Amino acid sequence: AKRVVIIGAGIVGTNLADELVARGWSDITVVEQGPLHMPGGSTSHAPGLVFQTTPSKTMTHLARYTVQKLLSIEKDGQNCFNQVGGLELATTPARLEDLKRKHGYASSWGINARLVSAEECLEMYPHLNKDMVLGGLHIPSDGLALAARATQLLIERTAKAGVRYLGSTPVIGIEQVNGRVTGVTIPNGTVPADIVVSCAGFWGVEIGKMIGLPIPLLPLAHQYAKTTAVPVLAGRDLNKKPNGLNAVLPILRHQDQDLYFREHGGQYGIGYYGHRPMPVDAGSLGLTSKNVDEKNMPSRLEFTKEDFDPAWKETQNLLPILRSTQIEDGFNGIFSFTPDGGPVFGQAPNLDGFYVAEAVWVTHSAGVARALAEVLTEGRSQIDMTECELTRFEEIQLSQDYISETSQQNFVEIYDILHPLQPKESPRSLRTSPFHAREKELGAYFLELGGWERPFWYDSNAGLLNSLPSDWKPVERDTWSAQFYSPIVAAEAWKTRNAVAMFDMTSFHRFEVGGPGALQLLQRLTTSDVSAKPGTITWALLLNNHGGIRSDIFVSRLEENLFQIGANSATDFAYLSREARRQGQWVQVREITGSTCCIGLWGPRARDVISIVSTDDFSNKGLPYFGVKNAIISGIPTTVFRKSYVGELGWEIQTTAEYGQRLWDAIYQAGKSHGLIAAGRAAFNSLRLEKGYRTYGTDMNTEHNPYEAGLSYTIRASKWEEYVGKSALERLSKQKPTRRLRCLTVDDGRSMILGKEPVFKNGKSVGYVTSAAFGFTVRKPIAYAWLPGNLAEGASVEIEYFGRRINATIAAEPLYDPDMKRMLA
Ligand code: FAD
Repeated sequence: AKRVVIIGAGIVGTNLADELVARGWSDITVVEQGPLHMPGGSTSHAPGLVFQTTPSKTMTHLARYTVQKLLSIEKDGQNCFNQVGGLELATTPARLEDLKRKHGYASSWGINARLVSAEECLEMYPHLNKDMVLGGLHIPSDGLALAARATQLLIERTAKAGVRYLGSTPVIGIEQVNGRVTGVTIPNGTVPADIVVSCAGFWGVEIGKMIGLPIPLLPLAHQYAKTTAVPVLAGRDLNKKPNGLNAVLPILRHQDQDLYFREHGGQYGIGYYGHRPMPVDAGSLGLTSKNVDEKNMPSRLEFTKEDFDPAWKETQNLLPILRSTQIEDGFNGIFSFTPDGGPVFGQAPNLDGFYVAEAVWVTHSAGVARALAEVLTEGRSQIDMTECELTRFEEIQLSQDYISETSQQNFVEIYDILHPLQPKESPRSLRTSPFHAREKELGAYFLELGGWERPFWYDSNAGLLNSLPSDWKPVERDTWSAQFYSPIVAAEAWKTRNAVAMFDMTSFHRFEVGGPGALQLLQRLTTSDVSAKPGTITWALLLNNHGGIRSDIFVSRLEENLFQIGANSATDFAYLSREARRQGQWVQVREITGSTCCIGLWGPRARDVISIVSTDDFSNKGLPYFGVKNAIISGIPTTVFRKSYVGELGWEIQTTAEYGQRLWDAIYQAGKSHGLIAAGRAAFNSLRLEKGYRTYGTDMNTEHNPYEAGLSYTIRASKWEEYVGKSALERLSKQKPTRRLRCLTVDDGRSMILGKEPVFKNGKSVGYVTSAAFGFTVRKPIAYAWLPGNLAEGASVEIEYFGRRINATIAAEPLYDPDMKRMLA
C-alpha cells in the first residue's frame, strides 16, 4: 500500500483522507500546523454558501458532488448541509438577461433551476426591497455548507479508520530522491511517504517554494461581516441553532453590487467583493498558534471598516430591515484567487508523487478531493479536470507579476457579467509572434490566449465586404453575439474558400521529441502508429488508462529519431516530459513554440502562391497530404507540413523566429496577384467547424472516449504495441455509445449561439453545445453538441439561448467537403 501524507486539515485535506479511505487506502497521515479542533485556515471561518452553477461544467459538477457528500456526512441525526436553496437577484436589465444565460448553464449541466419573477423573489424572500428587484434565478439544491463541522466529522471518522492526524505540526520541508517525493519534514523529524498532497489552501505558495514550484494563486482578503440582531427576527427558535442550521431563507446573491447574504439566526451575514483587492503574503502570517479561536486565527485579519462602507449602504438599500442594525463583527478573511479563477490541481511537473489541491472553495471541496483520490487510486478522475490542472499555465503565467495582477483582476470581476470572448485588458502583449508588426499594420483585432496575442480579424479586409457575393453576406447578430465579432470575418472566410489566405499559427503548441527512445515513447502514449517513415504526419490521441481522451496531437516524423508534436496545451508538454523521464531510455522533449513561428497558407490558390516563392516541389507527389518536408521559401529555410484545419489545399509553413517577418513579407507579396489576404481566428474557427474538426478541451475531454467523440479514425486497429488506454478501447469498441458529439445546424439560418447552451428534445434538456460559429460556406450557424446516442441525423432539437428556443437539426458531418476533394487537390 502506498504511504500518503496530506498537508492541511481544512475541508479539502480531510475530504481527501476520507475519499482515500473509501477507496481502501489506509496508510495516511494528515499533518496540520494548527490545532485539529480548529485548524485556523480559510475553512475555519467560511460562511459556507454553496452556489453550484457556473459556466464551467467541471466546476458545477464538483459542486454538485460536494452537496451530495455534505448531505451524507451525518452525526446525531444531523448532516452537514442546510439545503435552503440559492437565489440570485437581478436589479439591472443586463443582469436579468444574464440570469437567463445562467439558467441555460444549469440546464446544460443538469442542475434544477428556475427563473423567477420579482413577485416570486419577494414571496421567497420577504425582506427584499420590492422597488429594486427585477427578477431572480432560484436553485433549490443550493445552500449552506457546515464546513467546520464537516471537517471535524471527517477527522473523527477517518481517524477511526486508521488515518493518523498530527495537529499543531507544521510541514517545514519536502523530502525527495531522484525527482521523487519521499516524505515531509516536520520540526522533530520526517514523515516518510510515497505520495504527498498539499491541501494547504492559500499557504500553497509557501509549500510550493519548498520544492521550487511556482503555485499560481494569490491569497487575498475578503470582507465578511455580521449585523447585530434584527429586532423583527428576535425570539425565533432558529436563533438558537448552531451555525449553518440557523437559516431558513435561501442564500442570496446581489451581484450588481458585489454582495452576498445569509442568515445567522436573528443576525445577517454579509460578504463583499466590491472592495479594493487586498493581497496577503502567506509567509508573513507566521506559524499558527496553539490558541486558535473564532476570532483569532491566521486566516482572519482586522476588519477595515472604511472598505466596507459602500457594502453597508447597498445592503440597507436591498434589505431595509437591516437599517435598524449595526455591524457587530466583521473581518477580512483570507482565501486563494488564481489567474483564471480555477483551482490548482494535480501532480507537480518537477516532482513525481507530489500533488496539489489548492485554491479550492468549500463549494468544490469534496468534488476536488474525490477527483484527486481517483487520480491516485485509478489514474484518472470521472469529472474532467483539464481546466484545473496545475500544469495548464504557460511559463509566463507563472511569474509573480502575472499571478498577482490577474488574480486581483479576478477578484474585482468575480460577479461581473463577462462575455465568453472578453479578453483581459492587462497584462497584454506578453507573447507576440514575429508577424505581430505586420498584423498591426493590417489592423488586426487581437484577443489573448496563454499570453499570446492572436489576430481575430483584420480591419484591412473591411473593403472586401463590398465585393462579397450576396450568398456570403453576414447575417445580422443579436447584441450579445455581436460582441468581439466583426462582419469582416465573412469576407475572410470567403477569401479562404475561394482564393487564398494566410493565418498566424504561431500560438499553437509545438514540441520536439528526440533521441533513440522517441519512437518508443510516442508509440506507448498514442492511439496511432507513428512509426511511418520520416516525412509523414500522423494524427493521434493521447488517452488515459480508461480510454478517456487527454489530448489529440499531430506527430510529424522529421527524422528517424526526431518528431515534432503539434499539441493543445502546456499540460500536454508536462505529460510528455514526465513520461519521457519515466521511460529511462534516452529521449528528450523540448518546447519550441516560442522559438519558432508558423503560417497557415490555405485556399484553392495556395499552390499558385507558393510556386512564386519556392522552386521546391509542392505537387501532390512532391508533398502529399499529411506529408512534411524541409523547403526553401524565398531563401528562408522552412519546414512545411501538408495539413489544414480549415479544410483547404495548403500548408503550415514553419521557420525559426528570426526569419518570421521575412517569411511573412515574402508570402504576402507573392500572394497579392492571387488575391491573398491575412485572415484571423474568427474565420478559422468557423471554417474548422464546417470541416468538423474538434478542439480539445472545448469539444471533448477526459470524460469522453474516441468512439463517442467521432474520433475512432485516429485509432490504428492493427497497432500491435501496447499503449495507454489500449485495453480500455478494446472494451469500449464493443459498446454502443450512449452519447455522441453531433453536428447541429440552425434551421432559421441566422440565430447565433456561442457555446455551452442546453439542447432540448421534446421539452427535456438532453445535452449541451460545445463549439459554435456561423458557417459562412454553409450559410447557417453551426453548433457541435453532446447528445444522446439514440438521436440520429435529421432529428430536430431546440437550443436554448437567453431563454429563447432555437430550432436546429442534427446534420451529417462534416458539412463541408466530406470527400476531401479540396484538401487533396
Ligand atoms: P484551509 O481551510 O485554509 O486549510 C488549509 C490548511 O493547511 C490550514 O488548516 C493550514 O493550517 C494548513 N497548513 C498550511 N500550511 C501548512 C504547513 N506548512 N504545515 C501544516 N499545515 C499547513 N467558500 C465557499 O465555497 N463559499 C463561501 O461562502 C465562502 N465564503 C468565504 C468567506 C470568507 C471570508 C473567506 C475567507 C473564504 C470563503 N470561502 C468560501 C472560501 C473557502 O473558505 C476556502 O476556499 C476553503 O475553506 C479552503 O479550504 P482548504 O481546505 O483548501 O484550505
